[in-house]
Amino acid sequence: MAAGPAPEARSLMDEQTFLDNFNNLKYPRKTYLCYEVELLVGENHIPLDDYKGFVRNEGADMGFQPRHVELIFLERMASWNLDTELRYRVTCFISWSPCADCADELTKFLRENRHVNLRIFAARIYERSQGYEAGLRALKAAGAEVAIMTLQEFEYCWKNFVDHQQDEDKPFPRWDNLCVKSEKLTKKLAGILQNREE
Ligand SMILES: [Zn+2]
Repeated sequence: MAAGPAPEARSLMDEQTFLDNFNNLKYPRKTYLCYEVELLVGENHIPLDDYKGFVRNEGADMGFQPRHVELIFLERMASWNLDTELRYRVTCFISWSPCADCADELTKFLRENRHVNLRIFAARIYERSQGYEAGLRALKAAGAEVAIMTLQEFEYCWKNFVDHQQDEDKPFPRWDNLCVKSEKLTKKLAGILQNREE
């Protein structure tokens, strides 16, 4: 199996961080990315819990050179040295969809790593980056599945990536208009992905 170094102990996100950053009606300045990896064997998907966790972007406020979360995640993925003889499905739940540059890096990664399937669920569409639409189309063309988080994905993340202290069964506190917004974004993304490049 994977020959990379042992992954660090899995950390969970605190509840408020998740709610503040993944709320699809808000515009936080940070980006968080939750990830998980499955090994694909025939029809079976085998979850690899060692490769499950979250990362956030590095901002000037952390004393680092600003770096988008996708690049940090790509670096982490590279450190796993996933076996090229096997097939994997990597799923990312990301609070903002990738900017043009990050979409480009992810596309390159997928072209060079045919043993990895990538699914990206974004809480919101990041529109402030020029060329982001073409970036998302290129990602899709490279085989990635790009979608908007629906209630199902929010609940899934809440259950799998968030620290509920003692209360394991704490239900996801959905916010008003979560689904309305998610549907709007889904339509918008469909329009972006269908649009042919000139
Ligand atoms: Zn980016």
